[in-house]
Amino acid sequence: MAVSAGFIQASGWRSGHHKALPHHCPSPARMAILLLALALAGGCATAPPEPEITVMPAGPGEVEVLFELDRQVEALEFEHPADEIRRRQWQLLDKELLLQHDAIRSGQRQRFDSVRIRIESDRHPVHREYPPLIEFADGGMALHTRYLKQAGSEQTLFRVEAGDWHAALPGGENDEGRVLRAHDPERPRGSWLYLGPQAPSETDFGLLVSDPALPEALRKLVREGLEQAHAFFSERMGAREAPLLALAHHESAEAPALHGDFSAGPALRLAFAGPLEPNASESPQWDQKALLRFIAHETGHRWNADLVTPNVAGGGSWMVEGSSELFAIRFLESRGKFSGEAVKEEYEQALAHCSGVIETRPLAAISPLEPDYGAHYSCGMLFSLMTEAAFEPGDIFDFWQYLNHFFHEADDYDQSHYLGLLAEYGGARMADRIASIVTDQDADRKALLREGLAEVTCFDEGC
Ligand SMILES: [Zn+2]
Repeated sequence: MAVSAGFIQASGWRSGHHKALPHHCPSPARMAILLLALALAGGCATAPPEPEITVMPAGPGEVEVLFELDRQVEALEFEHPADEIRRRQWQLLDKELLLQHDAIRSGQRQRFDSVRIRIESDRHPVHREYPPLIEFADGGMALHTRYLKQAGSEQTLFRVEAGDWHAALPGGENDEGRVLRAHDPERPRGSWLYLGPQAPSETDFGLLVSDPALPEALRKLVREGLEQAHAFFSERMGAREAPLLALAHHESAEAPALHGDFSAGPALRLAFAGPLEPNASESPQWDQKALLRFIAHETGHRWNADLVTPNVAGGGSWMVEGSSELFAIRFLESRGKFSGEAVKEEYEQALAHCSGVIETRPLAAISPLEPDYGAHYSCGMLFSLMTEAAFEPGDIFDFWQYLNHFFHEADDYDQSHYLGLLAEYGGARMADRIASIVTDQDADRKALLREGLAEVTCFDEGC
């Protein structure tokens, strides 16, 4: 594809006019005051260079990314460790540079101030990793910015050069052709940058880009599902201000599957994998209920993984996954898609699954790479019910509103914050039970789970 030098200017949600913050060293007069701070921070001379990143389409399923640094360096270090992914999907176009230990380095001890990389779309995604680049049927692409984020930098400027294509970045603001992105150092997870021929559509929750490969009926359901789930959760847990960038795309695979991710910014990706039926414009082959549940689960992550970022080290993903599971069930119930009987069945299945897994080891011992990882979802949903039963001020939505309120300043929460909050508001015993099921090698975890669920109204009998 021919690449024009013109900037695209599209899809800004905010009209703010932001200028790039130049990297600068303090004046001599300020030097004395800042001496201590500089000594602690390593000084101005070692602060990371502020890169400007230009993204250009380079052919089907490929982009070229140009890093322009504000000075010569020996290495450009990245924040997110992903050597394997970068080696597989990135091609350095400067032959004397090499990818090594999550950095681009000069092979001959020379310094450099620009780097040109070609990135290919991920046709063999790594399990549970963000694909570096996804491809839409109309040639559009979405680039995961996490892999590009330089270690220690606070702000990255993305500029898209793609003729009359459109571009969008969550939380980004357009300024004379630049898509600006203030990377928050506290939330280094990165996000999605969309570029393509399709103008993102404006919705109640922000912007939506849907892959034209997806059946029309499915695209409609995605949009409506996202809007309804947003309205439902906003009413219960408070509206979210930052507009969302949602990407719905098709992924080729032998069997139908749904997977999504939520990242800071915020951005939401919904991937519909599997073969498309010949008359795809009419009939999505995926089950409607499963689709809505998936959409609601991912949307629910806005309230447990956006304003306050979960620190899930040590097995805490039950907090986010479990609550999103329960949020989705409550949403489906509200839409009349789940009867009381169906909900009860969901709980029973979760109980059977969770008990089977925690019988032999605590939940925290199960890593994302294991088939039993689903227990973070099933046990997590049961823990959400137990939390709701014990939390005196209200239901599970109120609990998350409290959690967001109390830990917003810290910008981070982990299991101890979650359980501490529960203990403080009437659930001390319940918090202990959950903690033991998650981490205690010696506890009778199944008995503790049964004990906790005995306090959940309607668990056994239905309502
Ligand atoms: Zn999830």
